[in-house]
Amino acid sequence: MARYTGPVCRLCRREGVKLYLKGDRCKSGKCSLDRRSTVPGQHGAAQKKPRAYGIQLREKQKTRRYYGVLEKQFVNYFVEADRRQGMTGENLLGLIERRLDNVVYEMGFASSRKEARQLVLHGHFTLNGKNVNIPSLLVKAGDVIAVKERSRASAKFVALAEVLGDKIVPQWIEVNAENLSGKIVALPTRDDVQFPFNEQLIVELYSK
Ligand code: SF4
Repeated sequence: MARYTGPVCRLCRREGVKLYLKGDRCKSGKCSLDRRSTVPGQHGAAQKKPRAYGIQLREKQKTRRYYGVLEKQFVNYFVEADRRQGMTGENLLGLIERRLDNVVYEMGFASSRKEARQLVLHGHFTLNGKNVNIPSLLVKAGDVIAVKERSRASAKFVALAEVLGDKIVPQWIEVNAENLSGKIVALPTRDDVQFPFNEQLIVELYSK
């Protein structure tokens, strides 16, 4: 499946907000958005005021890019969110938050969601003691995600073990820094999503 492989800082500039796609660089003084905040492209600086559809579209793209989810996958999450009881927008964010790559990132095992996705794909984790390599897998309450025994000796995870205890994790996740594992103590709610999404705009976009 085709994935965006271009410069990711362009995506932040396009959405006009930090999407935290480059790990530590995003929190340093080297963030491209801090240095140049115009929309990329020849006519970026001369963008017209967006109409309602444009605003809804941008919110959807921003959310999709933040989580690194392709359009088709995103639509599938929306269909599932709409099918479930409750607010569709909140269901949507709740579903995407539960992706294994997002959980690995939130636990602090990777510096970005993109890196988390790579680590999962390369088979560095177990889920409830079994090998797992599917980034889009949705975790459940009670699930335990751990760095595979064989991977713990690698330089990356040895270095990670020293700083993991300092990482602030969302309430719905519990991390055991000593044995490089984490547990899903509850399913994420809307309040657990700190990024300022306006999910209602996405619902309006797909409800047309
Ligand atoms: Fe976005 Fe990070 Fe690039 Fe800044 S450094 S523009 S937050 S990807």
